[in-house]
Amino acid sequence: MKALLVPLVTVPLTLSAIGPPAHADTGWVWPLDPRPAVVEAFDPPVDDYGAGHRGVDLAGATGDDVRAVAPGTVTFVGSIAGVGVITIDHGDTDSTYQPVDATVSRGDAVDAGEQIGTLLDVGSHCAPDACLHLGRVLADEYADPLELLPSSSAVRLVTPFGPPPEAPATPIGPIDGDGRLAMPVEGPVTSPYGMRLHPILGIWKLHDGTDFGVGCGTPVRSAEDGTVTQTYADSAYGNRVIVDHGDIAGSAVTTSYNHLTSWAVSAGEAVRRGDVVGYVGSTGYSTACHLHFMVEVNGSTVDPETWL
Ligand SMILES: [Zn+2]
Ligand SMILES: [Zn+2]
Repeated sequence: MKALLVPLVTVPLTLSAIGPPAHADTGWVWPLDPRPAVVEAFDPPVDDYGAGHRGVDLAGATGDDVRAVAPGTVTFVGSIAGVGVITIDHGDTDSTYQPVDATVSRGDAVDAGEQIGTLLDVGSHCAPDACLHLGRVLADEYADPLELLPSSSAVRLVTPFGPPPEAPATPIGPIDGDGRLAMPVEGPVTSPYGMRLHPILGIWKLHDGTDFGVGCGTPVRSAEDGTVTQTYADSAYGNRVIVDHGDIAGSAVTTSYNHLTSWAVSAGEAVRRGDVVGYVGSTGYSTACHLHFMVEVNGSTVDPETWL
């Protein structure tokens, strides 16, 4: 009988040791160390089913330690749609972490700053870069985690992935005699290439292509002769087509066409300047139909407008 009594005594003691959490919905600590840059802000959907960003993305590296933001109890460890997720209950509020390879188990008590796992790259919202998506759930509603994190109102003046790449100092050409790539669509530039300041949070981020405001379904044309190297669905860029234009005046030039509804070509296919490669859409991280057009020279993105 004594053996049975021991757990009856120790369970209440364990529970009282856990909490109530000292910081139910205040005073979180950063879940990555050193303090990470915020690469994508909280952008709640207008309704339960709408598009949006239900947390913040924090820059990190694959394998980084992921830490609990506050004392609490692990209530979920598992995989959701192939992405490793941890949830911690802090009392009034929950924190969620993904994609993470957990080192804790459901029911574990954790302290603020205690390691709960390591950062994965599969399922990153910042692919191909690694980042931690941190969520905060308060009374069954998503809330902005930055409200609880220290000094989160500071304006960041650098991107966590380094300074924006420089455009080539001299125009490279001639390309088909005019020294220019062809316009992939006819439409206004709605957002240029370059560092972009989030209007509310003051976070700088590189916009790595040129946005053209054109309607859904508009044909998208290859900017130059080349070979289609990839057509695939990316979580951020959506449906994309990448065309390799080979060597242009000593530089390796590729272009890509992003957020498409669908593509009109296959990998390995040769295309001519002006050939339709796909159709404008709003797949991936996109809120409305537009073309996100990218130019890469020797593996680095450049301002496409300097090439058009
Ligand atoms: Zn995210
Ligand atoms: Zn864009």
